[in-house]
Amino acid sequence: MNIGVIGGGWAGFAAAIELARAGQRVTVYEAGKVLGGRARRLASPQESTGAPALDNGQHLLAGAYGESLRLMELVDPGSSDAAFLRLPLALVYPEGVSIRAPRLPAPLHLAAALLFARGLTLADKLAAIGFMRALKQVNFAPAPDVTVAEALADQPVAVRRYLWEPICVAALNTPVEQASFRVFARVLKDALTGKAANSDFLIPARDLSALFPEPAAAWLQKNGGEVRTRTRIRALQRAGAQWKAQWDGGEAGHDRIVVATAPAHAANLLAPLADCQALAGRLGAIDYQPLLTVYAAYPALPRFPAPLLGWVEPAPMFIFDLQACRPDMQFGMANGIAVVVSAAGPHLEWDDARWVEEIDARMRQAFGPLPKPRLLKRITEKRATFACRPGMFRPSVKTPCAGLFLAGDYLDGPYPATLEGAVRSGVQCAQTLLATS
Ligand SMILES: Cc1cc2nc3c(=O)[nH]c(=O)nc-3n(C[C@H](O)[C@H](O)[C@H](O)COP(=O)(O)OP(=O)(O)OC[C@H]3O[C@@H](n4cnc5c(N)ncnc54)[C@H](O)[C@@H]3O)c2cc1C
Repeated sequence: MNIGVIGGGWAGFAAAIELARAGQRVTVYEAGKVLGGRARRLASPQESTGAPALDNGQHLLAGAYGESLRLMELVDPGSSDAAFLRLPLALVYPEGVSIRAPRLPAPLHLAAALLFARGLTLADKLAAIGFMRALKQVNFAPAPDVTVAEALADQPVAVRRYLWEPICVAALNTPVEQASFRVFARVLKDALTGKAANSDFLIPARDLSALFPEPAAAWLQKNGGEVRTRTRIRALQRAGAQWKAQWDGGEAGHDRIVVATAPAHAANLLAPLADCQALAGRLGAIDYQPLLTVYAAYPALPRFPAPLLGWVEPAPMFIFDLQACRPDMQFGMANGIAVVVSAAGPHLEWDDARWVEEIDARMRQAFGPLPKPRLLKRITEKRATFACRPGMFRPSVKTPCAGLFLAGDYLDGPYPATLEGAVRSGVQCAQTLLATS
């Protein structure tokens, strides 16, 4: 079959690779000039100035991202190790709390992390263990209509603030008052049960396009596929048994189409198709949460106690030590940092001057007197991820239009909007497409 995949993000490439592996001829269409979608290297102006390429937002993967690591390894052997700084779970707050998992077999690594956690009382630690036990009793599948805030109501304040809420907001990119407890429970299950390595933090040591989408594109081209960047598909049309994908100045026929875009873009493509209008309406109604990254640099910095440090006000905030994570990213004699704040909050209103003050205050708390940071770039991705609410609509990969399939982080599945959720949806899409053909 000749299959068109619309969208060169992680979901699109996961689908494309699995389809090509099954012997299908695949063309990936990507509207942008850089591959990777919401996890990509920024194209400009860094390229022209010779400054290091920044990403559209600092990402963090987990050891439990099995499908992402499998496909990375397939297209670029060795990369699932070499492309990351891997460290055992470490929530380190200069305010005084520190929860670090030692390199021990599961579940001892977590027991030790809690037992030796700094800044939590014994009652806090027992409450956290009790919370996990209660989740285990329901097989990590609590009632679907509960929010994380409701589920955490009985947890002590320190455990909420320094353990569960930062993990929830970082993983679901949704404030706890709105976040789905069922999805959060699944994240906890995959990260905190099973092998100890599942809870590892994997910090990209390459830019996000080089991490998977570009090696995936190279693999696809070597295996008979095609990748067309700067090609925005404007319309899809049924032409007999085939689909026609149309872009400015061209069109191509395909036996099957995979729409692997964010839901709003999928809604635009599906809306003119009579059988898909209702689905398009529901996709168009999905709401989003933002994600903010600030890149900054210092003339020099002391060694970080961990490659990422956390704060909890005004929302969970993490500062990544780029010197430790990104050996390819050199700012001359300066140390780079990436500050990440997930989900909506008052921080979205802060201007550059306020950010300099906020970063300065936090870095001084961690390291003592320092010169002021130099802001490199502040990026707000307004529609970074879907808002992961209880009972939200998540469609299946099949659409009411024969031969037209969906992939993307928002599709029905146990995961929040993450790279792993995107990759899993792509793999599932390819399997369903092949099974129904
Ligand atoms: C700032 C930020 C930080 C994040 N941090 C993390 C993190 O730490 N860990 C984590 O796991 N996840 C994180 N995420 C979420 C993760 O990046 C996304 O879940 C994932 O990238 C979504 O992939 P996707 O393939 O489903 O969609 P997308 O990445 O949106 O890919 C869709 C692609 O389709 C293209 N497209 C759209 N319309 C058309 C068209 N008509 N024709 C052709 N192409 C089209 C787009 O240009 C895009 O490249 C973060 C997201 C953001 C924005």
